[in-house]
Amino acid sequence: MKIDLVTIFPGILEGPFKESMIKRAIDQGLVEISLVDLRDYTHDRHHQVDDTPYGGGKGMILKPEPLFEAVEDLKAKTNEEHPWVILLTPQGERLNQQLAHDLSCKKHLILICGRYEGVDERVRTALVDQEISIGDYVLTGGELASAVLVDAVVRLLPGFLAEEASVNESFTEPLLEHPHYTRPPVYRGMEVPPVLMSGNHAEIARWRREQSVRRTYERRPDLLDTSILMPEDEIILNNIKKKES
Ligand code: SAM
Repeated sequence: MKIDLVTIFPGILEGPFKESMIKRAIDQGLVEISLVDLRDYTHDRHHQVDDTPYGGGKGMILKPEPLFEAVEDLKAKTNEEHPWVILLTPQGERLNQQLAHDLSCKKHLILICGRYEGVDERVRTALVDQEISIGDYVLTGGELASAVLVDAVVRLLPGFLAEEASVNESFTEPLLEHPHYTRPPVYRGMEVPPVLMSGNHAEIARWRREQSVRRTYERRPDLLDTSILMPEDEIILNNIKKKES
């Protein structure tokens, strides 16, 4: 996969991809990440990328010309037939695990990081394939949002995680993941559930499944409202509800 990040502050994005597992993915050739400085696509002495809004009002707007030129140049340089152009914006479709999965199947992503009051509307309408938000809050710029998106997508690339590591994760099914424990068996009086140390794999799997359903019911009941559960999960859920009433 190739990912280009178009930004006026490439320095913000240098850190997140230089450490740990994303760096390893880059080193292993699973993904190529390029930081593209929007100012390289300006033609004036001051490398101006923003301007005041028509109609008045506070703040600056990222101009269309450098963004169109940057994206068109990146498209011209790639072998991919249709690089997928994403605008990070609080007004976009909310990022979730399913969307991260869908994006991990693309070969080339071009991410546009907005700044100030955002981008000229013509960028949205004529340049962008998809608008994505990382949550219902407003950041100062799209750089951190794009780093979140890249992290969520790259870890789903084949070969990044051991297969079983991603299978049980939260949101992979409509359920949150079960709790985890490691040594020591007792810490400040808090004990690891004995079943996890029993060596009985069937019992452990059953306990984890129950915890997973319980957690989802307690913390994110909305996930259960919109999904079809496996019959055994339905039974677990009904038992939890029965105990409550
Ligand atoms: N005026 C814009 C609005 O009300 O929709 C917000 C602009 S925000 C201050 C500047 C930039 O940060 C946006 O253009 C976008 O790229 C990025 N941004 C802010 N919040 C975001 C979010 N929740 N998800 C994705 N990108 C976000």
